[in-house]
Amino acid sequence: MEKPIAVVTGAQQGIGLAIAQVLSTRGFYTVLCDLDERALSVAAEAIGDSSGYTLDVSDFAAVERVAAQVEDTLGPIAVLVNNAGINRDRMLHRMSREEWDRVVAVDLTGPFNFMRHVVPRMRERRAGRIINISSASWQGNVGQANYAAAKAGVIGLTKTAAKELAPFHITVNAICPGFIDSPMTRRMAPEAFSAMVAKIPVGRIGTPHDVAKVVAFLASDDASYVTGEVINVGGGMVL
Ligand code: NAP
Repeated sequence: MEKPIAVVTGAQQGIGLAIAQVLSTRGFYTVLCDLDERALSVAAEAIGDSSGYTLDVSDFAAVERVAAQVEDTLGPIAVLVNNAGINRDRMLHRMSREEWDRVVAVDLTGPFNFMRHVVPRMRERRAGRIINISSASWQGNVGQANYAAAKAGVIGLTKTAAKELAPFHITVNAICPGFIDSPMTRRMAPEAFSAMVAKIPVGRIGTPHDVAKVVAFLASDDASYVTGEVINVGGGMVL
């Protein structure tokens, strides 16, 4: 593969799809990972110079297989974007153990799984970019104890990895989207959706491309001296 390879998880729709689209326009071959084979192949075909891998990011062994397969068949992974995420919102006093476990498994263990399997090869090459998608909710948000805890964990993971990997010229940064127009937020009740939009100082909901362009910056040469940072992309919103 002549182009550098960027792996994007949760890339069949929403923010992940926009990230893959923007990275593709910036010269990357994109590897899309998500749950639905059909949606993945539609997305990969639309992007061009792209492949889809059906994968649950919470499955340690499956991530190991896909990371090895990409490296062995396509080439070295230059950029890893851990974007796949879910929410299962409920007040803490009603939250089930399953709702807690699943969100932590996908939103926190998922990024760990991918980093665990990609970092050894990046260390050998002494190069790499890792961008983790956290959330403005990491600071605490009513009804999101599981999600906020997982997304706060992503920031701890990011900052630790940044320190461990800086000597290997690997940068690790996190992005905290605010309220972005995607299938995830469109599942909300219309009143709750409008109430969130009303809280955004710039006066509009974020687009997936607003987030994707910051990912592209962190993946670019312009960001080679930026590591361990948490960048809010929320139009000034404070939860
Ligand atoms: P989305 O529209 O729901 O897209 C997320 C994608 O990840 C979906 O295609 C989803 O598949 C996939 N996915 C879920 N579980 C997975 C798993 N175990 N393995 C692989 N893929 C999986 O969400 P989004 O709004 O684009 O969010 C992308 C990221 O941004 C998430 O990490 C989210 O927490 C974060 N974020 C979003 C917002 C926002 O306002 N939208 C704000 C802050 C942070 P299914 O649809 O089949 O579940």
